[in-house]
Amino acid sequence: MSESIFSKIIRREIPATIVYEDERVIAFRDIAPQAPVHILIVPKKPIATLNDATEEDRELLGHILLTAQRLAHQENIADRGYRLVINTNSEAGQTVFHLHCHLLGGRPMSWPPG
Ligand code: 5GP
Repeated sequence: MSESIFSKIIRREIPATIVYEDERVIAFRDIAPQAPVHILIVPKKPIATLNDATEEDRELLGHILLTAQRLAHQENIADRGYRLVINTNSEAGQTVFHLHCHLLGGRPMSWPPG
């Protein structure tokens, strides 16, 4: 895949407000937050979309969800509620083609999503 802006954030070539990092993932605040808490959890492995994940990525995908849960506790939204979103391809509105999970919370949310 061609390189995305998130690879530059992972390499610290452009700044971001990083809230968590380990050897497999990085999490940082979205530059255009859609809720009081809006964090992106990004695997360091550059997978373009969820469609490109394979069986080999099973553990990594689970780690992304558990990282989101940890951050929800850290941000004090775990009990109130939060939403995880993985936009995949154009109709879903994916704009950055490096797999990421949005963690959104801190306000009531409606359903269905727009
Ligand atoms: P997508 O639309 O692909 O699901 O989500 C991409 C997200 O990345 C958007 O919410 C957008 O605001 C965020 N984003 C795009 N460029 C940057 C950036 O340079 N820094 C940060 N922190 N977020 C970004």
